[in-house]
Formats: sequence, C-alpha cells, structure tokens
Amino acid sequence: MIDPERDPESAARFGRMLLDWYDAHQRGLPWRGSRDPYAIWVSEIMLQQTRVAVVVERFQQFLERFPSLPALALASEQDVLALWSGLGYYRRARMLHKAAQFVMEHRGGALPETAEELRLLPGIGAYTAAAIASIAFDQPIGVVDGNVERVFCRVQEWPSTGRSGAARLRRSITTLVDRIIPSTRPGDFNQALMELGATLCTPRSPQCVLCPVAVDCSTRGEHPTAPRPAMISTEIGCALAVRSSASPGPSHLEILVEQRPQSRTVMPGLWQLPTLLDPNVPDVALRMTLRHAIMRVNYYVRIRTVMAEEVDSLTRLQGERRWVPQAEIASLALTGLTRKVLTRAHLLRPPVQSDAMQAEPHDLQA
Ligand code: SF4
Repeated sequence: MIDPERDPESAARFGRMLLDWYDAHQRGLPWRGSRDPYAIWVSEIMLQQTRVAVVVERFQQFLERFPSLPALALASEQDVLALWSGLGYYRRARMLHKAAQFVMEHRGGALPETAEELRLLPGIGAYTAAAIASIAFDQPIGVVDGNVERVFCRVQEWPSTGRSGAARLRRSITTLVDRIIPSTRPGDFNQALMELGATLCTPRSPQCVLCPVAVDCSTRGEHPTAPRPAMISTEIGCALAVRSSASPGPSHLEILVEQRPQSRTVMPGLWQLPTLLDPNVPDVALRMTLRHAIMRVNYYVRIRTVMAEEVDSLTRLQGERRWVPQAEIASLALTGLTRKVLTRAHLLRPPVQSDAMQAEPHDLQA
C-alpha cells in the first residue's frame, strides 16, 4: 500500500520501480517517445475507445495524410472521416477536426499547454487534457483510466464499489496519483501506469511475479470487481448488393452503399450497406451472420445477397445510395459494421494488425 503522508518513501519507491520497469519493458508504440503535441493529441483521441492494435496502424496512416495540425485543419470533414473509418466513434474525428480549425483560427496553430486550457477545445475531456498536458508539456497531473484504476484498487486494496461509487473511487485514485506523480517525467509516469494495467496487472490473471510494484501492492492478485452491466442483444439484417460494372476500368464490380443522413445522432454522414426490411433471412438466401458490438449492444447481423432488381423491395431507403466501384470503396467513410461485412465477403482488404499488441479489454470498435 502507498501512503504518501505517513510513508513518503513508499510513494517515491513506487515511482522509481515503475519508471525503471517502463524504460526496460514498454511496448514500442509509434507515438511513444514523441514530444510533438499534435501527434500525442491524435494518439490520445484514437486510443479513447479503440484497441491499441488498430490504432497503431491507423495512427501512422493518419499522420502520413495529415502530418501537422494545419494540414488537418485544412482537410475536408469527409476526408478526415474516411481516414477514421474502422476506428469507430466518429464523433471523435469530427471534434478533432473542429478543434484543429479552432486552434488555427484562435491560437495561431499552437495547442494550449495546460490541462485546464486544453479542456476548452472540442472533444477534449478531463482525461485527454491531462494526458496531453503531462506527456507533451510535462504538467504533473494524473491520468486515470480503467487500467490505472484497477492497478490502484489492487495496490491499495480498495474495494470495488460498483456503479454508485464509481465516480467517488475515480476521484480518490486521481487524488492519490496527483500526490505521488513525480515532477520529472510525469508523462512517462502516467504512461507507465497505463502500460502496467494493460500488460501485467490485467483484469484476469495478473502477472504479479513480474510486477515492478509488487512490494507495495496489498493484494498481489485479482481483486473483486463489480459485475459489468449486461449486454443487450438485437437482430438486424443487411443487404449485400453487388453488380458487374458497365464501364471499363480496373474495377469490374460495384457495391451498393447508402449514406446515413446528417440528421442522425449516431454516425451521421457515414456510408453503410442498405438495411433489410426483414432481418429474418431465409436459409437459402443467407450469405453470412456476424456479431457486432457497439457500447453495450450486441448486434446479431444477418447478411443476404440482394440482386440489383431486388433492392427496392427488400431494403429500407434511409439515405442517398450509390453504386461504388470495389476499388474505391475503401476510400469512403464506412461504418465499422459495413467494413467488417465487406472484409469477410472478400470485397475489402482487411487491415493489417499486429498480434504483438495487447488489446485494451474494455474497448469496443463501433
Ligand atoms: S502485484 Fe499484481 S495485483 Fe499488484 S499491481 Fe502488480 S500485477 Fe497488479
């Protein structure tokens, strides 16, 4: 247990052991070691609700296309959304884009350096502001996510309080981290805590024999946690309509997609496969089924092949529709589900993912 008041040495030792371990064992993620506030900002936004392995690939592509804050600010929203496709939670991309334009217009392209000022930008909450301020600008401020919370619940043997006490527990842990965070390398300290939670102090089977802070840990093992809220299940159907292209060119196939209206609160403007009027697809017409999780909802999706002449009678029109050549489909801002279906149907190249990267256990891809 760490007690910064009665035993200041426990806090100092915890920091030393943690940073030494981080220096030796941290994963080589592309945003690590960078002091470019823009790159750190992009990585933090991407990591909010997306698995690390997916972010690794998309982060590099994003920075190649938009290498600087001015480049992002000048881009069109559709270009930004297209590059964000597959990362999910597209509101993050819109806010990132808006914030870049705001910083160009009002701050001459320079990001604020404190968490308090960063929080005033679109899409930046307390967590992201603290992460950017500590990693990019050395502000000694704690960053507490689910991984860090789990580490300190175990180190301090603090009981899990369930939903009703979650905010209080988070405040207690944030206060503790703010008191023990070193003034030198505060960003590395925060990243080391998250790394510990993601790689050793995992929800199941924590690797306590390898843990650098085991000497100060009260539980040295799994800690009772509140049960996760139950998932809700729902069934939907999607139409996979593919036709031969009439015009000569590299693509001989065209795929029918539909743009979600801008008035939608969820994923406005993104492109999706048409929705079937009836999700009960007869066996003879069933192409595939898959599960797609968004937040606490499991969508069980039935996909059927639909001929061009059947589209009107079998699907619900919800937005502008377009037959898109297969070679161009990847450049659209597709929903995560559409990307998944097209990939499984071998109509879209799957993204390259590194097995060496650990997934954040609580993250889902929309
Ligand atoms: S000793 Fe085990 S439970 Fe404690 S912080 Fe380390 S990995 Fe987690």
